[in-house]
Amino acid sequence: MIEKGGMLYEGKAKKIFLTEKEDEVIQYFKDDATAFNAEKRGTIHEKGVVNNKISTRLFQELADSGIPSHFIQQINDREMLARRVQIILVEVVVRNRATGSIITRLGLEEGMLIAPPLVEFFYKDDSLGDPLITEDHIRLLKLATPSQVTELRNQALKINEVLLPFFLKRGMMLVDFKLEFGLWNGQIILADEISPDTCRFWDVQTGERMDKDRFRKDLGRIEETYQEVLKRVCTPLN
Ligand code: UDP
Repeated sequence: MIEKGGMLYEGKAKKIFLTEKEDEVIQYFKDDATAFNAEKRGTIHEKGVVNNKISTRLFQELADSGIPSHFIQQINDREMLARRVQIILVEVVVRNRATGSIITRLGLEEGMLIAPPLVEFFYKDDSLGDPLITEDHIRLLKLATPSQVTELRNQALKINEVLLPFFLKRGMMLVDFKLEFGLWNGQIILADEISPDTCRFWDVQTGERMDKDRFRKDLGRIEETYQEVLKRVCTPLN
């Protein structure tokens, strides 16, 4: 039995709790959903359960491929045990196809193949609206050292190489995703979550959106879609 201590932090989609062990925390997944820098708010029934299970499966898959993360074990439907890290305030986005903010920023055509994949950095600061930043901005703001930025990029691309075929086998195109990393014992490790909240998936057959874009754009069938992603990710392949 893992003893839950006081709440360390509450974000938009998760809460972090202390445990008896100084270097371990409990990550609790909420049903709350936000978009457009929290201008749009709502709840997605059972999203916390779905995202906890999907993140668990993906962190396990990455660990099997030699990519460490903060994940230790799933505790229950909504909670996972994780290493306590110091979050690096840089959101790392990987893109395999053009959609979302890169379309308006660069005028690309929706769905354009991006090969090799593109890595972008955003400053994790809600009050500034998470702006796109360059490596020089990261250095200026002392968010990470140049060698750490290289490490972030390399790890993000390695994660993409594992996840692209993982999702393709399950009939989903991994269009883009956002990662957060933390410092743990002087090492950079993957943290946060990987879920339909933080990735974009398009159904390979129909092109249907299978992620938070259904909430962002009021496309309907949000809950069913999250459940479908869970089923595809967590059902063993024959
Ligand atoms: N993303 C995220 N959190 C954010 C912003 C983006 O998880 O605060 C994810 C988003 O779900 C997508 C990818 O990062 O998979 C790229 O998002 P984009 O820059 O296109 O921004 P958006 O269109 O979501 O504003």
